[in-house]
Amino acid sequence: MSTLFEKIINREIPADIVYEDEISLAFKDINPQAPTHILIIPKKPIEKLSDANIEDQALLGHLMLVAGKIAEQLNLDNTFRIIINNGAGAGQSVFHLHLHLMSGRPLSWPPG
Ligand code: 5GP
Repeated sequence: MSTLFEKIINREIPADIVYEDEISLAFKDINPQAPTHILIIPKKPIEKLSDANIEDQALLGHLMLVAGKIAEQLNLDNTFRIIINNGAGAGQSVFHLHLHLMSGRPLSWPPG
């Protein structure tokens, strides 16, 4: 059964897409936790970061570079945070690897 994010990739459910290339997709989070809250996902269905392997090395690097590119396009002034929740205990609720790109408000440390 395909996840919510696979349905977004396949345009079966709508999303506010801000970036797409052959291996990744980025769209606005439906329940934003900051003025800018973008999700960046691989098109390859990897459930969570800890399921990635050496074959995914370039893909993982690509997602990071896409995050930087989007931050530049959105003029985030080099001020943003990338978060990956890995596993339900760490707050993961959609089991398709995704990076949260958040910006636009003070981001405290440590995160909750
Ligand atoms: P997680 O908790 O797995 O790290 O993050 C999942 C994120 O997906 C949450 O921030 C949640 O708001 C977002 N989300 C859940 N359902 C949808 C949806 O249908 N569309 C979009 N754009 N975001 C979603």
